[in-house]
Amino acid sequence: MTRTVYVNGEYVPETEAKISIFDRAFLFADGVYEVTSVLDGKLIDFDGHAKRLQRSLDELKMRSPVTTEELLEIHRELVRVNEIDEGLIYLQVTRGAAADRDFAFPPEDTPPGIVLFTQNKPGLANNPTAQKGIKVISFEDLRWGRRDIKTVQLLYPSLGKMAAKEQGCDDAWLVEDGFVTEGTSNNAYIVTKEGTIVTRQLSNDILHGITRAAVLRFAREAQIKVEERPFTIEEAQNAKEAFFTSASAFVMPVVEIDGEKVGDGTVGDMVPRIREIYLEEMRKAAV
Ligand code: PMP
Repeated sequence: MTRTVYVNGEYVPETEAKISIFDRAFLFADGVYEVTSVLDGKLIDFDGHAKRLQRSLDELKMRSPVTTEELLEIHRELVRVNEIDEGLIYLQVTRGAAADRDFAFPPEDTPPGIVLFTQNKPGLANNPTAQKGIKVISFEDLRWGRRDIKTVQLLYPSLGKMAAKEQGCDDAWLVEDGFVTEGTSNNAYIVTKEGTIVTRQLSNDILHGITRAAVLRFAREAQIKVEERPFTIEEAQNAKEAFFTSASAFVMPVVEIDGEKVGDGTVGDMVPRIREIYLEEMRKAAV
């Protein structure tokens, strides 16, 4: 089936979608994005993603071409026409197409660009990988200093992911000054022997994950202790359990780090429990 996508105000078949070669996202990675998951044909935490999009835009002094209400409508229409029951919606807003390539921002009245498309992912929630867990490597964090802004500048995380694949692993945890910042496309956590969830505190060093916010809220509500502080790869290797969160993978166990088993190398009790609570609560609140 040919997907219908949304490009600069129009719903078009993916094969007919066009953007300018002068679009700032293409030339300067001058764009921000969001990925929202769809379960039972409904949007998971749309509000959280819309708020973070606005924050990314504000930080970069970029205008949004649409209101939040319009954005919700576009998401819903794409889910409807593409018949998505489980999947993802990718959204990108750019500073638009300037008249020529120029480092300076284009004039204020340049229309921002916007693209949305769906990715059909049947089995997103019942992902068998969640039963098995994944393996990660550590990888030096050489990204820029504003990782809190969700820009489309993703080449370095892509290199990290490829380094992991070359070593027969699934992902990389990025390390700066001896401490884990986050995964290439997710937030990183450990569970200590005492059952405390540890994850790095929010700052410009990491993306403020929408899934992270929800998971920490549910954990606290379930009386699980949470510590927001940095941890090392060594501490993670010696932890009871480890996991990551993202809007597309939800809560995912990590069972091996740099060839060392976490715990006994199998999925523990806490991570599946958190995944279950997350999915249950988010399905209830989906729009
Ligand atoms: N950190 C990075 C670097 C990411 O790319 C992502 C996912 N886009 C996350 C964390 C997780 O954020 P969220 O839970 O909002 O998907």
